[in-house]
Amino acid sequence: MQLLLFDIDGTLTHSGGAGSRAIYLALEQMYGMVRYPKPVRMAGKTDVAIFRELLRINHLQERPGDLDELYRVYPRMLRRCLREVGDKAHPHPAVAELLRKLVRLPEFTLGLLTGNLAETARIKLTRFRLNRYFKLGAYGSDNADRMKLPAIARRRAGEMGIRVSPRQMVVIGDTPRDIACARGYGVRSVAVATGPYSVRQLKRHKPDLVYKDLSDTDGFIRQVKSLLVVCRASRVERQRSNVECKTS
Ligand SMILES: [Mg+2]
Repeated sequence: MQLLLFDIDGTLTHSGGAGSRAIYLALEQMYGMVRYPKPVRMAGKTDVAIFRELLRINHLQERPGDLDELYRVYPRMLRRCLREVGDKAHPHPAVAELLRKLVRLPEFTLGLLTGNLAETARIKLTRFRLNRYFKLGAYGSDNADRMKLPAIARRRAGEMGIRVSPRQMVVIGDTPRDIACARGYGVRSVAVATGPYSVRQLKRHKPDLVYKDLSDTDGFIRQVKSLLVVCRASRVERQRSNVECKTS
């Protein structure tokens, strides 16, 4: 069994600016007028981390109960903003086709590993009818630190009877933060340049695989399978030679 954990923004979908606008509107509703003196780079950060960064920029203190309020207000704003942006929000090329193929293969379980809140993740995916492919998820509402999310995803899989080691997990994302959180937990990473980072920029962070986009669906499936094969082979090799293997 292999657990594939997909990021959402920049990897599966593009929200046409609805996500960032919704978080600004949520803050405005919660705190009154809010200033944005410099653009905040949101890619790869969890929604809670972005929320706290915006508070810091505005010299605002997080109050008890604020996160609960954010969880109530932000999804409502996101629904509104997604309606407003219309076709500017879209799935990335061949994403639906890839998920359809993957979900039919018994060796894979599909999950989410995203900085979105659990609710906003599902809102974004439902909009493009992609929600049904994912059995489980680890979200920004589970922990503000993305590095903690692979362990949460593995625990959730275990609770559903899907027992995997970190080497049987793959994180698919569009930013260096996705690659780092995979590496931090000993998980394979696949980077895709449909977000703000180019193939060249992503390569610098040494993901196991990197793609311009996910349009070569069969090539993606073949290569992701081979990651697991390399991992198995290296374990056998190590047992035989008792030597640390580079690929595992
Ligand atoms: Mg992303």
